[in-house]
Amino acid sequence: MEIRNLLKGKTVVVTGGSRGIGRSIVLTMARQGANVTFFYRNNEAAREDTLEASSCLSGIVNAKKIDIREAEACESAVDQIAEDAGNIDILINSAGITRDNILGLMTNGELNDVLATNVIGVFNVLRPVIPYMVRQKKGRIINISSVAAEKGGRGQTNYAASKGAINALTKALAVELAPKNILVNCVAPGMIETDMTESIKQQAGDMVRSRILLGRFGQPEDVAKAVLFFASSLSDYVTGQVLHVDGGFKMN
Ligand code: NDP
Repeated sequence: MEIRNLLKGKTVVVTGGSRGIGRSIVLTMARQGANVTFFYRNNEAAREDTLEASSCLSGIVNAKKIDIREAEACESAVDQIAEDAGNIDILINSAGITRDNILGLMTNGELNDVLATNVIGVFNVLRPVIPYMVRQKKGRIINISSVAAEKGGRGQTNYAASKGAINALTKALAVELAPKNILVNCVAPGMIETDMTESIKQQAGDMVRSRILLGRFGQPEDVAKAVLFFASSLSDYVTGQVLHVDGGFKMN
């Protein structure tokens, strides 16, 4: 079944849209007619590739070099997008990092970087966006967490804590914003083939694959399709949910 124009004319912000899952979300949204601005940190080549891939799609895609750890930069970028478009309909918080290490050896930098990006960075974008959605009396927020929030993984205490925070934040925010007609949901991917998972795949790919019920790693598009569900009218009566897109990895 072909689905078309689910997001025609919507204004969408995607963090971490230059690569991996975020890029696939950007392209999926633009294919459905949304005008998308994505944030990226510093990878200019990846930004260019995403913009090029979007050039034939029906929605317009723009990029902004915004480090989500910088609250003021996030605020002025959001204000600029809202001023240009007149509103912000959908926010997808996809930017995230790993700095894996066993806790006994973990540096302050590895701990702080992960929390600053994966948790505070999400707050930094949420806070300026929400007032626009409240004014419009509608909006969609989709956070990307991880299977790591619920399934323990060696060397991932910092990352697991950051993604557990995102699951918890999603539920609390869904309660706060439901009276304003703003729906807040979360997609928790399993092992998806991106730059982030390249080294795990090299080191322990067969072992990880053997624990995925569907017997394959996920692709960024698998996650983007779930995000599209939460971003569109297909999920008008759904809020506060964490949807695992992991081929059954969490269950095994
Ligand atoms: P990638 O490493 O492929 O891409 C990360 C993206 O986030 C890039 O666009 C990067 O920008 C951006 N980014 C990182 N830090 C910042 C920052 N401080 N400010 C702005 N942008 C930033 O990651 P994935 O696509 O694999 O992951 C996307 C999300 O999905 C993350 O939240 C991750 O935790 C989550 N996830 C991923 C899984 C997987 O298996 N891949 C599994 C579970 C969850 P730039 O290109 O400029 O560096």
